[in-house]
Amino acid sequence: MSVEELSVDTHLCTNIPNIYAIGDVIKGAMLAHKAEEEGVFVVETMAGQKPHIDYNLIPNVVYTWPEVAGVGQTEEQLKAAGISYKTGKFPLKHLVAPAPARIWTG
Ligand SMILES: Cc1cc2nc3c(=O)[nH]c(=O)nc-3n(C[C@H](O)[C@H](O)[C@H](O)COP(=O)(O)OP(=O)(O)OC[C@H]3O[C@@H](n4cnc5c(N)ncnc54)[C@H](O)[C@@H]3O)c2cc1C
Repeated sequence: MSVEELSVDTHLCTNIPNIYAIGDVIKGAMLAHKAEEEGVFVVETMAGQKPHIDYNLIPNVVYTWPEVAGVGQTEEQLKAAGISYKTGKFPLKHLVAPAPARIWTG
C-alpha cells in the first residue's frame, strides 16, 4: 500500500496557514519519539518560541522484547557519506539471559 505524506515547511506547517502536521503523516521515520519531538516542536512554535529539531538526535526505539534502540546515523548512512567510523559488537544473548529470571521471580 502506498501512503501519501503531507508536505510541510521547516516549521512543520502545512500549505494551510496555522495548520501543522507531525508524526506518521509527514516525511521521516514512522516512530513514536520522532512524532513526540515534532509535537513539542510545533507547540513551542505556536507559543512564539524558536525551537530547533535535530533528527539525528532522536532515538529510534523498537518496543520488542528485549527493546532495541538506536540513535544517530546508521553504518550504511556513514558509508554513503564517506565518514569513517568504528564498529563494536555485543552479543544480545548476554542481555536477554537474566531477564526471564527477573520476570518469574518478581
Ligand atoms: C503495531 C505498531 C507497532 C509500533 N511499534 C513501534 C515501536 O516499537 N516504536 C516506535 O517508536 N513506534 C512504533 N510504532 C509507531 C508509532 O506508534 C507511531 O509512529 C506514532 O504513534 C505516530 O504518532 P502520530 O501522532 O503520528 O500518530 P498516532 O499516534 O496514530 O496518533 C494519531 C491520532 O489521531 C487520531 N485520529 C485519526 N483520525 C482522526 C480524525 N479524523 N479525527 C480525530 N482524530 C483522529 C487517532 O485516533 C490517533 O489517536 C508502532 C505502530 C504500530 C501500528
